[in-house]
Amino acid sequence: SQQKDTSFFGHPAGLQTLFFTEMWERMSYYGMRALLVLFMTASLQEGGLAITVAAATAIYGLYTGAVYFMGLPGGWIADRLVGAQKATWYGGIIIMSGHIVLAIPSVASFYIGMILVVLGTGLLKPNISAMVGDLYDSKDSRRDSGYTLYYMGINIGAIIGYFVTGYLQTSVGWHWGFGAAAVGMFLGLVQYKMTQPKLRGVGAKPPKPLSAGGAKVSWTVIAAFLLGLVIVTYSALTGALVIDPVAIAKYVAISITIVFFAYYIGIFLFAKLSRDEMKRLGALFLICVASTCFWAGFEQAGSSFNLFARDLTDRMIGSFEIPTTWFQSLNSIFLITLSPFFAALWINLSKRMINPSYGFKTALGLVIMATGFIVMFFAAQAAASGLKVAPYWLVTVYFLHTVGELCLSPVALSAVSKLSPKRMAGQMMGVFVLTYSIGNVVAGLLAGNMNPDNPAVMADLFLQITYFGLAVGVVVFLIALKTRKWEALAEKDDMPGAVID
Ligand code: GLN
Repeated sequence: SQQKDTSFFGHPAGLQTLFFTEMWERMSYYGMRALLVLFMTASLQEGGLAITVAAATAIYGLYTGAVYFMGLPGGWIADRLVGAQKATWYGGIIIMSGHIVLAIPSVASFYIGMILVVLGTGLLKPNISAMVGDLYDSKDSRRDSGYTLYYMGINIGAIIGYFVTGYLQTSVGWHWGFGAAAVGMFLGLVQYKMTQPKLRGVGAKPPKPLSAGGAKVSWTVIAAFLLGLVIVTYSALTGALVIDPVAIAKYVAISITIVFFAYYIGIFLFAKLSRDEMKRLGALFLICVASTCFWAGFEQAGSSFNLFARDLTDRMIGSFEIPTTWFQSLNSIFLITLSPFFAALWINLSKRMINPSYGFKTALGLVIMATGFIVMFFAAQAAASGLKVAPYWLVTVYFLHTVGELCLSPVALSAVSKLSPKRMAGQMMGVFVLTYSIGNVVAGLLAGNMNPDNPAVMADLFLQITYFGLAVGVVVFLIALKTRKWEALAEKDDMPGAVID
């Protein structure tokens, strides 16, 4: 019988390639993102763009929404045109170019750089995540823990990003921070090329290539889209076209949600699914709903929690003041320390033949996220008395939210890879990444109603999010009792050479 490849912490060697590439990509993404709103709102004397807070946060929302939205065409391009390996490679090059352009101090280069990062991430993110799952056959019980390990790489990258760009920005200037992001992506590309053979055949070819004629039409459409984008960007930069980011942001939130449903329904109607595949994608739909609701709550980290840390938390330890931004990095720190336990937990449970369904784990993630908001509710109530609250409130919340994230987020990635038909792995990951997009935008809209000047109102909203999270968690749990059987259909796949320990 065939021997399993266990060369990277018990996982296939290809995971090493994907782990480090994604680590550097996320370093560049989170590093740059950390500076974004600060840079836009800083005055001209400070080297910023002197944009209002309302416009800057709207641009931030549009940017993060767009980054994840472009995963949909990015996944499709890999499935039908170029394959995941090439999509990841060219995506990385476009991302790096974007950060290089961002490092040039001018208003035009700022917007052009962001557009490039959006396009590149759309190509890279869903496809690199889909390749992780393709390293395992459908019966391999290491898939969940493999994704947990991969997810750890994401967060190591995020910490390096926060630390390096933040340091460079304060010590030498904004554009050095952006430049560091480019260097990070460059390192990711170098290591990707050097270790690419470890991927063996995974993602080397499009799983369901278009006919030559179909490919020609698609490339023409892509070229036309890019040309249109150039024209719109040029018109906006020269002032011929006036774009109001705040007004656009709301429409974008609604549009992305509509695209998500339309795409999912379209797949059911037109992708010639077998009955089993329909059931599997039905089970996946539940995971997508859970993921959207989870991020809508979780992503308060960058907005309302951030403000709570700044204005309502007593950050003095003796004569040392804890910087506000440190609280956000607690998420990545907890994630990295807790990941090995979760990876081991999934493996251990499966050895005991206990395999909680994906639906169950995501429901659990939602419920734990909701309990974090109960803590926030009490914290905000305490702050309503007028006194600042102790830092451990937020520490507890970030701890709970990270535990919830570990139950839900890497698990959901694993579910997408397992439940989607192989021929549309990239696209389905693209669809899944839309749940990040919607979650982020909704989180922004929720946070828009929270003002640290009025902690009592914050407390009310936190309690509402608690109810919402608990309710969705319970519903997902109940539906998961049914979809569990649909999930199991994924194991029926013909997988010669699967080895059971
Ligand atoms: N931290 C995860 C990642 O970067 C999830 C991001 C998100 O906003 N959902 O992949």
